Order: sequence, then structure tokens, then C-alpha cells
Amino acid sequence: MAKPRVLIVEDNVDNFELVRFLLERAGYEVLSAANGVEGVVAAKREQPDLVLMDLSMPEMDGWKATAQMKAEETTRHIPVLALTAHTLPSERKRAIDAGCDGYISKPINVASFDKLVSTLVRHARAGL
Ligand code: MN
Repeated sequence: MAKPRVLIVEDNVDNFELVRFLLERAGYEVLSAANGVEGVVAAKREQPDLVLMDLSMPEMDGWKATAQMKAEETTRHIPVLALTAHTLPSERKRAIDAGCDGYISKPINVASFDKLVSTLVRHARAGL
């Protein structure tokens, strides 16, 4: 079976490298986009099993990119996990309202990161 593919949409290189390291170590193939505009295009083209979406980004932020993905027939089935340093409940609610399927707080807790990613990928592949 081919490796599950995860698209990371993140403008910060250090955050990107950390998330890529964790995903590759867990056996995923990693795709990348540096802002929301690129992220929406890459999601359509690559049809990844999961998108990890930073929220604060140039060009188009993660809230808007997620809303676009969820409004689009060809990408609305792909689960989106917000990567957020926004710890205010109102900011997390904004991510869920935009269509995110969950969120991961920065700094990342590795154990819960691995668990959440594998659960969402498994569900996505099972068509749940
Ligand atoms: Mn950012």
C-alpha cells in the first residue's frame, strides 16, 4: 500500500521542518505549500489524505484557505487540521467554523500529534 500523503501548508520554515520530520518519521509522504493560495491549489492537484494548515500566513491565511477547500467539491472531503499558536478559544472556534476538522496547538505535543494525524488519515482512507 502506498504511503499516506500529507500536505503541510505553512509559511514558517522552522515549523515546516519540524512537522515534516514528525510526519516522515511516522511513515508519511510529505507535500508542501508556503501559503494559503498555494495550499488550495496543491490540495486540488495532489488530493492528499490530510492537510495540516497553519493559520497565520501571507497571501491567504489558513482560515480562508480551509473555507475555500471546504466550499470546493474536489477538496471538501480532505480532512484539515489547523496548526495554531492561537490558544484563545475564540480563535480555535474560528478554525472549526472555517471547516477545520481539528487543531494542533503549537508548540506541538509529539504524542498527541502522531495520534491525531494517524486517526484522521485512517478515517480519510476508510472514506469516513
Ligand atoms: Mn504562519
